[in-house]
Amino acid sequence: MNNSSLSYLDPARPEPWASFIEQIDRVAPHLGSLAHWIETLKRPKRILIVDVPIVRDDGTIAHYEGYRVQHNLSRGPGKGGVRFHPHVSLSEVMALAGWMTIKNAALGLPYGGAKGGVRIDPRAFSRAELERITRRYTSEIGIVIGPDKDIPAPDVGTNEQTMAWMMDTYSMNVGHTASGVVTGKPIALGGSLGRQEATGRGVFIAAREAGRRSGVPISGARVAVQGFGNVGGIAARIFRENGAKVVALQDAEATIANPAGIDIPAALAHAAAHGSLSGFFGAEPVREDDFWQLECEYFVPAALEGQLTPQRASRLRARIVVEGANGPTTPAADDILHERNILVIPDVLANAGGVTVSYFEWVQDFSSFFWSEEEINARLESIMIKAFDAIWQMAQERKVSIRTAAFIIACQRVLAAREQRGLYP
Ligand code: GLU
Repeated sequence: MNNSSLSYLDPARPEPWASFIEQIDRVAPHLGSLAHWIETLKRPKRILIVDVPIVRDDGTIAHYEGYRVQHNLSRGPGKGGVRFHPHVSLSEVMALAGWMTIKNAALGLPYGGAKGGVRIDPRAFSRAELERITRRYTSEIGIVIGPDKDIPAPDVGTNEQTMAWMMDTYSMNVGHTASGVVTGKPIALGGSLGRQEATGRGVFIAAREAGRRSGVPISGARVAVQGFGNVGGIAARIFRENGAKVVALQDAEATIANPAGIDIPAALAHAAAHGSLSGFFGAEPVREDDFWQLECEYFVPAALEGQLTPQRASRLRARIVVEGANGPTTPAADDILHERNILVIPDVLANAGGVTVSYFEWVQDFSSFFWSEEEINARLESIMIKAFDAIWQMAQERKVSIRTAAFIIACQRVLAAREQRGLYP
């Protein structure tokens, strides 16, 4: 199948769904008789496209396009974040939903995969406007979400305040407080300790496990991080706390390097105060393009998809790539990294810490019994390490990349559920 057989997908903008399809095609030969069901993964179960109209602060009316895609619900309710970004498209949300299906199954979380988004630049709106956009979007997708149907969470451009508005809007519409409808909420509203930093923490755990198995110790390692938000910023901090040297950082506005190691708490404080790394004095500015050939042991793309292109992959001077973002490496770039013997720990494993602690949050909301941060971090460690071990072993057995191994394990779980449930009617 190719993209053109999904008539609703714009053939002029096939990415990143086309990358997801290629990853699925690569795993098919490893699935034995379950491959019979593979087509299931090449078409989302359900797509909702919504109009999001709001009154702007100046009194004019503006319309935005929003989506919620439920890629697969074979193993449980939909789960995945909501993105507010000017590049949000149907293809992007479909791919992100597909990666959630794989991620949740690879980690053994009892969820399908879903994702949502609104095509806006959140920085271009007042807080009141963002609240109106969020509430109207939530009302519009209210027909498909719910604590046992599909549970949104933060992603690029959204945060715990967005989740508070989503929880409140959904709760108002159903007539009772439904804290389990979203995760990544503020603690006071049923959020979980450790959720905010869970994705960055998971990235670090994945890096440490990869380093342990391939002889690249964290202590003293040089690390380059693209993206300095909730994933890249926290991962950088934890790398540094564990003795690594963060030698380069890139965000949407600046690329900076310091071979002696960047003072991450200072960089975080600067980014919080100024909205970007631009103007940070603790490192030298570097040409944007040179970022891709700085020497390091760990390279952490933690921004957007499609960043590691073949051209950049052939220049990269890293030992291990740890994907904090979703879909940062194109399939062609993946091949180049493989040929160049650069180990890639894929998104569906490396950034799964966020959704893992989302799962803990959802469980805590259901039972109205809340765990300590130590307990959460310990459970996060154990789930990530267990998944890492199983995927690593699969990669050795089948002589495939870590990504393909993660996809094999995930697709086996999803498609076995599909087969056991059977086709209705
Ligand atoms: N947006 C995050 C991700 O891509 C978290 C999703 C969630 O917690 O549901 O994994």
